[in-house]
Amino acid sequence: MSANNTDSAIQPNRRKLVDGMGRTIVNLRISVTDRCNFRCTYCMPEHNVEFMERSKLLTFEEITRVVGVVSAMGIRRLRLTGGEPLMRKELPVLVRMLRGVPGIDDLAMTTNAFFLKDQAKDLYDAGLKRLNVSLDALNPEKFRDVNRKDCLKEVLAGLARAREVGFTSIKINAVAMRNFSESEIMSLIDMGRSQGFEMRFIEFMPLDADKIWERDKVLFGHEIVELIQKKYDLVPIDNSREIGPASEYDFVDGKGKIGIITAVSNPFCDHCNRIRMTADGKLRTCLFSTSETDLKALIRGGASDPEIEDAIAAAVWIKEPGHKINLDSFERPERAMHAIGG
Ligand code: SAM
Ligand code: SF4
Repeated sequence: MSANNTDSAIQPNRRKLVDGMGRTIVNLRISVTDRCNFRCTYCMPEHNVEFMERSKLLTFEEITRVVGVVSAMGIRRLRLTGGEPLMRKELPVLVRMLRGVPGIDDLAMTTNAFFLKDQAKDLYDAGLKRLNVSLDALNPEKFRDVNRKDCLKEVLAGLARAREVGFTSIKINAVAMRNFSESEIMSLIDMGRSQGFEMRFIEFMPLDADKIWERDKVLFGHEIVELIQKKYDLVPIDNSREIGPASEYDFVDGKGKIGIITAVSNPFCDHCNRIRMTADGKLRTCLFSTSETDLKALIRGGASDPEIEDAIAAAVWIKEPGHKINLDSFERPERAMHAIGG
């Protein structure tokens, strides 16, 4: 770490997205909607969700403009998310627009896969090549209980269709919750190994709208590894965390790998290279940010590209050193996960 972000003598770097801790930001997560057809217990409330008004969502042109600005500052990787990104109409149009932005060399999407059966081909043809599909349980009742929607079949059909149309890089995300995930881990691992999907387990984080999160409800990464090792030998992949948030492990028998995101027990913050933009155009420099930069107000207020660039550089400069889940001073963000963009 080269500098402390409270050092007022050091000015934000206007050309490259580097924060006050010396972290270079290359990754932008773009939420395209806060709406979702699921109501996962760890993310959304079951009833009475207040969604953003459609007029408040950034248009595809506005999103692409921001991406043009940040790509000139070093952003290389984009991920579309939500809410459920496939609920945003005409998403392949946005994919095509983003693929055309110079400097962007990776475009991925995280989805619950419910609508993937119908949309996979158009998305692939538009230039989307990497997918993360959320799937917490292969037992239909457990799937229904956690996602509060009875549709495991549709999700599996979406996955199969994605493979069929050409997606070769598909990861499966499962939120790791104590007294829930233990019974699902091995079947998810076996499905991943037999079908060539990389399984990723994400420790349950305090971003659920119902505020049911407690530390005791998190199934920790080391416990997941221990469970898997009852059946398969794993070997840690060196330096995997320098590339992304997951600690990765190879199966010793050579059949694939897994990733564990220990966001609670062993956070990745020192290596964090990402920022996020909500569907209503707020820049967040951390999943757990308690303040935001209103890019939509700048855009709709007539700001020039250099003015938008200045606002982004200034926000990134004071990017949070890390989240405080493990400290008494932890403050939950007002937004739940579906309104941030996971
Ligand atoms: N709807 C899409 C989906 O579920 O894949 C994209 C948005 S979702 C908010 C993005 C990711 O965040 C999903 O993989 C989901 O499992 C994860 N997620 C949501 N709430 C979480 C929480 N409280 N802790 C950890 N991961 C969470
Ligand atoms: Fe919807 Fe994804 Fe949140 Fe589940 S995790 S409620 S699928 S946004």
